[in-house]
Amino acid sequence: MNVVIVGAGIAGLATALSLEAVGIRDIRIFERAPEIRGLGVGINLLPHAVRELTELGVADRIEALGVAPSRLAYFNRLGQPIWSEPRGLDAGYRWPQLSVHRGRLQLALVELVRERLGEVIETGHRLTDVSEGAETVTAVFDTDAGPVEATGDLVIGADGIHSALRAIRYPTEGRRRGAASRCGAAPP
Ligand SMILES: Cc1cc2nc3c(=O)[nH]c(=O)nc-3n(C[C@H](O)[C@H](O)[C@H](O)COP(=O)(O)OP(=O)(O)OC[C@H]3O[C@@H](n4cnc5c(N)ncnc54)[C@H](O)[C@@H]3O)c2cc1C
Repeated sequence: MNVVIVGAGIAGLATALSLEAVGIRDIRIFERAPEIRGLGVGINLLPHAVRELTELGVADRIEALGVAPSRLAYFNRLGQPIWSEPRGLDAGYRWPQLSVHRGRLQLALVELVRERLGEVIETGHRLTDVSEGAETVTAVFDTDAGPVEATGDLVIGADGIHSALRAIRYPTEGRRRGAASRCGAAPP
């Protein structure tokens, strides 16, 4: 099976690793950013996400990038506790919760994809169109060198919350309401 993944964020990269784990190696990932710089700030991976990383055999590497909080606690501005609850292993899960820098997580996943699949990530490719044939799907990307097509048995949209692929496939859905702005800090 030949798979085209749109977006080299956390979902696109994790999907590539999951497909590789079940024996699908003919994968290309297309990312609109000219380079993957590992942007963001903190992100929390809940136990069910860490379970997936554990199944992929990469949890140790991700765990080394962050911390495993044992409690979530809220305080008011005077420092008085409002709410507190156990998290991860302390909450009885079989997997920890991990707090990591989003950019470091993304760069670690890029490294793992390269190790397991080779140079399959094409940056500078912004999805602009997608069309279905009888047996295949073709994605069209805008690049500095002009439009580029990629045909696969499957095209997976992992291009984030403002997904271009979703907008193409579901044009009447509109934009997500209450969309927050994005953080852009590089990893320390
Ligand atoms: C720069 C950035 C910083 C973030 N920082 C944080 C943070 O600090 N904390 C937090 O909790 N969450 C953060 N997020 C959101 C968080 O990463 C996602 O909500 C979550 O990881 C889900 O991942 P995702 O792969 O679905 O989406 P995303 O992480 O948003 O990845 C989507 C990828 O698709 C690419 N893409 C988008 N449109 C196209 C297109 N038309 N063609 C090709 N590629 C496209 C994007 O460039 C991006 O690399 C950030 C997201 C981004 C993009």
